Amino acid sequence: MIKRFFTYYLPHKKLFILDFSSAVIVAILELAFPMAVTWFIDKLLPEGNWSTIVSVSCGLLALYLVSTYLQYIVNYWGHKLGINIETDMRAQLFNHVQRQSFKFFDNTKTGHVMSRITNDLFDIGELAHHGPEDLFIAIMTFVGAFWIMLTINVKLALIVIFIVPVLVWLITYCNKSMNKAWKHMYGDIADVNARVEDSVSGVRVVQSFTNEEFEMERFSVNNKRFRKAKIVAYKVMSLTSSSVYMLMRFFTLVVLVYGAWLTFNGELTNGELVAFILYVNILQKPIDKISTLLELYPKGMAGFRRFLDLLDSEPEIQDRPDAVEMPALRGDIQFNDVTFGYDNRTVLDQISLNIKAGETVAFVGPSGAGKTTICSLVPRFYDINSGAIKIDGMDIRDMTKHSLRSQIGIVQQDVFLFTGTLKENIAYGKLDATDEEIHTAVRRAHLEDLIRKLPDGYETQIGERGLKLSGGQKQRLAIARMFLKNPPILILDEATSALDTETEQIIQASLNELAKNRTTLVIAHRLATIRNADRIVVVTENGIEEEGGHDELIEKGGIFANLHRVQYQR
Ligand code: ADP
Ligand code: MG
Repeated sequence: MIKRFFTYYLPHKKLFILDFSSAVIVAILELAFPMAVTWFIDKLLPEGNWSTIVSVSCGLLALYLVSTYLQYIVNYWGHKLGINIETDMRAQLFNHVQRQSFKFFDNTKTGHVMSRITNDLFDIGELAHHGPEDLFIAIMTFVGAFWIMLTINVKLALIVIFIVPVLVWLITYCNKSMNKAWKHMYGDIADVNARVEDSVSGVRVVQSFTNEEFEMERFSVNNKRFRKAKIVAYKVMSLTSSSVYMLMRFFTLVVLVYGAWLTFNGELTNGELVAFILYVNILQKPIDKISTLLELYPKGMAGFRRFLDLLDSEPEIQDRPDAVEMPALRGDIQFNDVTFGYDNRTVLDQISLNIKAGETVAFVGPSGAGKTTICSLVPRFYDINSGAIKIDGMDIRDMTKHSLRSQIGIVQQDVFLFTGTLKENIAYGKLDATDEEIHTAVRRAHLEDLIRKLPDGYETQIGERGLKLSGGQKQRLAIARMFLKNPPILILDEATSALDTETEQIIQASLNELAKNRTTLVIAHRLATIRNADRIVVVTENGIEEEGGHDELIEKGGIFANLHRVQYQR
C-alpha cells in the first residue's frame, strides 16, 4: 500500500526533490549554527578584532537569509506538493465515482462518498507532504545534534540521554490527549451539522408542526456539547504547550548548571556551553515532528485505505472490449425472457415484450410491481440475470454504454436541477447546444412564458433545489432538455404524477409532442394520461398480466378494466 502511495509522488517528482533537498539544507544549517556560535565566542571574542567580527556577522546574515528562503520553499512548495497530490487523488476519485453503476449508489451513502472526497483526502494530503520529509529531517536532526553533543562533551551529552525519554513521553502523552479532545470535537461538530441540515431542509415540516421551540432546544443541546468539547480541546492544547515549554526550560537549566560546573573544571569552553544549550533546544524539534507524524500516519493511511477501497471497486457495468458504437437507433425494443432482481429477490421473472419503433407503450399496475425496473433495464442501468434485451435486434450489452444511453431520454417525477442558471439547466440535455436550439426547445416545451416573466430570463439562477420552480415548470424544463437531446427512445416514468390534474393536462400536450416519432415507454398512475398509448402493458407482482389496446383491455374485463372502473368512479 505504501508503494502505491508513493506512485502519487511521481507526477510531482521535481517538486518533491526541490522541497526535500531544501529541507535537508535547512536542517544542516540549523545544526551548524551552534558550532558557529562556539567558534565566535571561543576564538573571535578573545581576539577582539572588530572588523573580523563584522565580516563574520555579514556572513552569518547571508546564511540566515539563505536559510529563511529555503524555509519558505519548504513551507510553500512542500504544502503545494501535498495539495497537488490531494487534488490528483480527488479528481481520480470523482471520476471513478462518476463511472459507478446504479447498484453502487443503491448501496452507498452520499455522505460517505462526500467525506471520502473531501475530509479523508485532507489527511492524506497532509501525510503526503509531511510524511517522508519530516521523518527524514527529524531523524537526521536528532542523530546529528546528538552526535555533535557527544563530540563536544560526553558527560553532558549523557545527561541529555536522560532528558530525551522524558520529553518523548510528555509530548506523546500530550498528543494522545489532544487527539482524543479533537476527536470529541469533530464528533460533536458533525452532530451540530446534522441538526442544522435536518432543520433547514425540514423547515416546512418544523413550521407546520410549530415545533420551532423544540428544534431550538435540541439544537442548543448539541451546540453546548460542541462548545464544551472545543473548550476542552483548547485547554489540553494550552496545557500541552505550557508543560513542554516548562520542561524545556527546566532541562536547559540543568544543562546550564552542570555545564557551568564542567566549565569551572576546565572540561568545557564557554562557547561549547552555549552551543550545548542551543542543541538541547534543537532536540525538541525532531521529537515534536515524530510525535505529530505518529498521529498523522495512521490517520492518513486509514484515509488512503478508504480511498483505495473506493477506487478499486470496479463499476459493475462496463463496455465489452468489442462493444459497438451505435449509430442512430431506430427504436425497436425487445425483452426476451428477461429475469432480474436487485439483490437476491427476483423482481422480473422471464418477462418478454416486443415494442416496435415509434410505438408508445404504457405500463400500468400497482406500485412496486416493477414498472420502473423494466424501464431502467433499457438504458442498461442494471445488468439482467438471464435472457436478453435487444434494441434494433442487437443485445444492448454489445453496444457501448455511451452510444446506448445517449439515445435514450428519461423524464421522471423528480426533475433534478443543478445549481446554475436556467439556461445551463436546459442545455444539460445537449451541452453544445446553440442558443437557437435552446430557444426552439424552450418554445416546444412551452417554457417561454416563464422565461419572459423572470427578471433575468435565461440567466436566472436556480436555487439549491430549484425551489423557485413549480412542479409543472420543472417538468417543462425536463421536456425542453429532451427536445434538445432528441433521443429515438423516450421513457416517461410518472413524469406528471406529482402534478395536479389541470397542470398535467397542459403538460400532456407537450409530452405528446415530445413522444412523436420516438419509441416511448410511459409509466402512469392516472389512466387518463395513457389514453393515447398504442398499447397498454399491465404489470403486477406476477409479471406482465395483460397487454393490448385501451378499449380492447376494457372489453376484456380484466385487471385493467378493474383499475379503470375504480379510477373513474371517484
Ligand atoms: P414500480 O415502478 O412498479 O412501482 P419498481 O420497479 O420501482 O416498481 O420496484 C419493483 C421492486 O423492486 C420493488 O419491490 C422495489 O422495492 C424493488 N426495488 C426497486 N428499486 C430498487 C433498488 N434500487 N434496489 C433494491 N430494490 C429495488
Ligand atoms: Mg416506479
